[in-house]
Amino acid sequence: MFCRIGDFYELFYDDAITAARELQLTLTARDKEKKQPMCGVPYHSAEGYFQRLLRKGYRLAVCEQMEDPKQTKTIVRREVTRVLTPGTAMDPSLGAEQSNYLASVVVLDKCVGLALLDLSTGEFRATEFSGAGGWAEAADELGRVKPVELVYAQGGLLGTSRGSSGLLPTHRGETAMNGAPGDLGRRKEDGRAAHDAHLRRDETAPKMGNPDSDEGTGLDGIRTKTALEDWVFTADYAVPLLRNHLRVQSLDGMGLGGHESAAIAAGALLHYMRATKQGGLEHVDGLRFYERSTCLELDAVSVRNLELIEPLFSGESAQTTLFYTLDACCTPMGKRLLRSTLLRPSNRLEEIEARLDAVGEATADLRKREELRRSMNGVLDLERLLGRVAVDSAGPREVMALAGTLGCLPGIRAAVGVFEAGLWRELGGDGRASHDAHLRRDETASEMGHPVAASGGFDAMEDLHEMIVQTIVDEPPVSLADGGVIRAGVDAELDELRELSRSGRQALAAIEERERQRTGIGSLKVRFNSVFGYYLEVTKANAKAVPADYERKQTLVNAERFTTPELKEYETKILTAQERSGEIERRLFAELRRQLLDAAKRMRETARRVAEIDMLACFAHLAALRGWVRPDVDASGVLEFIGARHPVVERRMEESGGGRFVPNAVHLDADAGPAVLLITGPNMGGKSTYLRQSALLVVMAQCGCFVPAERMRLGLVDRIYTRIGASDNVARGRSTFMVEMTETAAILNTATNRSLVLLDEMGRGTATYDGLSLAWATVEHLHDRIGARTLFATHYHELTLLAERLSRLKNLRVTVKEAPSGIVFLHTVEAGAASKSYGIEVARLAGLPGAVISRAREVLKLHERAETQQVREAAPMQQMQMTMFTPLSQRIVDRLGEVDVDGLTPREALNLLAELQRELKG
Ligand code: ADP
Ligand code: MG
Repeated sequence: MFCRIGDFYELFYDDAITAARELQLTLTARDKEKKQPMCGVPYHSAEGYFQRLLRKGYRLAVCEQMEDPKQTKTIVRREVTRVLTPGTAMDPSLGAEQSNYLASVVVLDKCVGLALLDLSTGEFRATEFSGAGGWAEAADELGRVKPVELVYAQGGLLGTSRGSSGLLPTHRGETAMNGAPGDLGRRKEDGRAAHDAHLRRDETAPKMGNPDSDEGTGLDGIRTKTALEDWVFTADYAVPLLRNHLRVQSLDGMGLGGHESAAIAAGALLHYMRATKQGGLEHVDGLRFYERSTCLELDAVSVRNLELIEPLFSGESAQTTLFYTLDACCTPMGKRLLRSTLLRPSNRLEEIEARLDAVGEATADLRKREELRRSMNGVLDLERLLGRVAVDSAGPREVMALAGTLGCLPGIRAAVGVFEAGLWRELGGDGRASHDAHLRRDETASEMGHPVAASGGFDAMEDLHEMIVQTIVDEPPVSLADGGVIRAGVDAELDELRELSRSGRQALAAIEERERQRTGIGSLKVRFNSVFGYYLEVTKANAKAVPADYERKQTLVNAERFTTPELKEYETKILTAQERSGEIERRLFAELRRQLLDAAKRMRETARRVAEIDMLACFAHLAALRGWVRPDVDASGVLEFIGARHPVVERRMEESGGGRFVPNAVHLDADAGPAVLLITGPNMGGKSTYLRQSALLVVMAQCGCFVPAERMRLGLVDRIYTRIGASDNVARGRSTFMVEMTETAAILNTATNRSLVLLDEMGRGTATYDGLSLAWATVEHLHDRIGARTLFATHYHELTLLAERLSRLKNLRVTVKEAPSGIVFLHTVEAGAASKSYGIEVARLAGLPGAVISRAREVLKLHERAETQQVREAAPMQQMQMTMFTPLSQRIVDRLGEVDVDGLTPREALNLLAELQRELKG
């Protein structure tokens, strides 16, 4: 708690120790024995310190002096006026493309409700996950969205009694929020509630689960987790709160009918906003129920592995991400939309086609496209500016900035208007032609709260622009308190008062001149300060010449200050006029703010359209610039491309002058085959790149973006699964192999035959035979049972034998050329299995003695012959697997083959059985 004392905010005791450490402040003490640590920050620079603590995940309360210290003899009354938390505070340094989500979760009858609110833009949405995997999915969604703060019920999650206890893993720094002001505080006045709260605090927080369980995946990254009292998460409390805030009778209209968990989670967020005294929430005017199934699902692991948004290894440059490569958006809204679209590409054919049509049209016409992109130049963050207006932190300059952006809108509408494609008309048109399209959209998106705007056209909001520029001067001061914000001609009284103080000041100038003449003191001056008001100042040397009607006010070292009745009279006039005009300016500014907020819904709708227009224009720009082509998207099970390149690697190679990316091709068909591609080849040959490239192209296509290929055909993918590289998770206490198997389990349990599965170097984390066996069985399962389009890169050459048995599996290899100077990676991918002796060739090039090399060749040959033979001979699958990988069992088989069964006594038979079993068990 930051407690205002004079010009400082002070912290005490543990707070002081924490803050001193985190903010590098000097720790002092209030008492001589130094038992009461304290530290402080000057009030005028406090905001910066607040933000630093918030970014580190802390919550803080700001306690202000509520009365003038001069007026009171006792302790000044203080009150908590603000509670700042990472999820509720608006960080001015927030990157434009980042969202600042506050999340809440609740579990009700095995159904997980999840709500997300970005206070800086007003985006508010909720969803639900039910069934056995509900919690894992919710955790996964959290891992993708990466909220900065999570709110949940203190007593654990409600409704968890039935079997699913302990859903949230323990987390350091987790605290229950008992002392919050507002509703929470009031609740505590009731003795029992306070008692309860106290008891709970002594428990070890909500029943928290096993931190090793993979269910915690998505929660690890959330630094601030805030527990609220359980009653907040009840339908009786949270649902009416939500209804009242949104001013609706029923939540059905926004797609929340029958989704009580989602509604409760959303209501709890509003409660938290109120409890932490967040000001205006007018811009949070709609709630959207969303479902993940309408999009191409990407789990948190894939988002990370594919480096869609962030580099795989923190600290690496963000240039390795797809977002960086695709971001040519002109506006912050466009950037945010691109980011969220990459996380949730579409899975609906008509939506993708509509986007591709629009992108195609803009790609083809340079002039129109450039015109459109130019029209968005200078467009600021409409949603965030509106957010600042709503919480009343926008000064005159921000409002003018808003006007500047509103001023660009007619230009954008005009620039979109020249395009023909359906989506362009829908986004920028007058609304009539596209009525049907909107109805369709509403069915699935359940976008609530935009009934008028959704069926209307692009609202350029000329009226609001006009209103602002008519009210506020062209170059207003930073602060409203400085005055001179409102334009002349807006308010007659204000003009009059300004005239009055102007003439008053002129009169003062006249008095100065007259008094100089009268007294003969050339240096006499009329001056002003806030303590004495207006006065006449005369230097010490001239003090004798002062006339008798001057009244002495103050004596300084080398000057005397006087006043006269006439001066006092003007002073009153001028000061009252200024005070009054200040009042009027504040009132007019507040009115303007009110009117802007009344139009919040319109602005948000327009911002949404601008974002989409911007993103499509960005796709078109890239397609034209880089020669990308339109993918053919359909509902088949095909994934095929020719002359394809990895967008990120290609661009990086170009920029660093590191040669050219070698294009390659993929042909997969979940129905007709091949469904599984098994890629072998030496390290550094380009296997991982090939896998990622395939996934990235699918993501891009389903976002509605053109792709870096000569041709691409894509049957819609419902989910992308990746298991790439050996990501080490030692920090979280799980072995690499455990992580790998957990991820593989998730794939095998949930993939469908419309999924895309990438497995890279599976089974590396354990002994060769284990790993090989697991990889083998996994490929068979994917091939026989799931039929998902699968790219499997492996260093186990043995797996290439699978092609002889699995009809829809095809071997591919990355090629190399051996030159005298070393190995050249050709990076082409061709049919066939990689040469096994390759490793030995490398060893030869590295200079291993010739005898070792030739002996290695011999050993290898023996192994190869034995293995191939076994696989060929082994007809039934079970037997083959055993004989191949466990030489021990081969011995047992041989023993059994030799035994003369008729010649055995029952006792001998039993002994043999026991012996064989012993051998099997090792
Ligand atoms: P592997 O997984 O087979 O070990 P990687 O996919 O990690 O190989 O690629 C190794 C290197 O080769 C990387 O630096 C990558 O940028 C480069 N590379 C991969 N594919 C190509 C390609 N088609 N054209 C040019 N360079 C490539
Ligand atoms: Mg690799």
